[in-house]
Amino acid sequence: MRKYVIMGIQGSGKGTQAKMLCEDLDLVHISVGDIFRWNVANHTKLGAQVRRIIASGQLVDDDLVEQVVRERLDRHDWNYGFVVDGFPRNAAQAEFFLEAFDIDGVIHLEMPDSEVRRRVLARRLCSQCGLDYNLIASRPEIENACDVCGGELISRPDDTEEALELRLADYAEKTRPVLDLFRRKEYVATIDATQDPQTVQQAIRQRFSLPPMREAAREIAEDAERANKVAGELIDRDRSSPAVAR
Ligand code: AMP
Repeated sequence: MRKYVIMGIQGSGKGTQAKMLCEDLDLVHISVGDIFRWNVANHTKLGAQVRRIIASGQLVDDDLVEQVVRERLDRHDWNYGFVVDGFPRNAAQAEFFLEAFDIDGVIHLEMPDSEVRRRVLARRLCSQCGLDYNLIASRPEIENACDVCGGELISRPDDTEEALELRLADYAEKTRPVLDLFRRKEYVATIDATQDPQTVQQAIRQRFSLPPMREAAREIAEDAERANKVAGELIDRDRSSPAVAR
């Protein structure tokens, strides 16, 4: 059984790296942000509770997040393990997690704030199906429309400059201490996340003695790499034309 937590500031490639591990090693990707976004997109009671908080870039109340994480992990729907992404984000959540669940290690993706800004401001998702949408790697047939459901491609509501500043400050203040807590109990591997996705993935696998990458992971990495390369280009285009809905 392989059970990991992946940590890193928004835009550090947590989602991509988690997907690469999960796709190749048959692990379940548990993204707390995705759970919230799914609930918002599907107008559930939980979605209504968290919609505004998420859009402003603030953190959801600990009790609510812990309940969501507990319910999700209590499903035990994995055969080979999981990667928890986006939790814990502060010391209280880390203490809850360490008391309730066993893990094999923490993957910590490290990235400077300047690079985070560049990447985060270029992300897009489909406004209807709510999925992260890679505008560059799989360019939609109709510009700004999701190929799957026709929904408009938008920036995540919390990927604005204002919300990002809040999240960067929150991360520095609240999430970094989590690493210190983990280091006392768990193996924390800190990886330089400014490198290309395949190099980052190789480093993770080396540190945790995992098998080498297969085709599925390489494809995810290549998509992410293409997206990263043109991230700067996209930001410039958006700044000069407000056509992309926000
Ligand atoms: P993410 O996709 O991980 O960036 O999460 C998106 C948003 O969901 C965050 O900006 C928070 O509002 C909320 N969220 C996700 N995980 C947590 C958490 N562990 N604690 C509090 N809020 C969270």
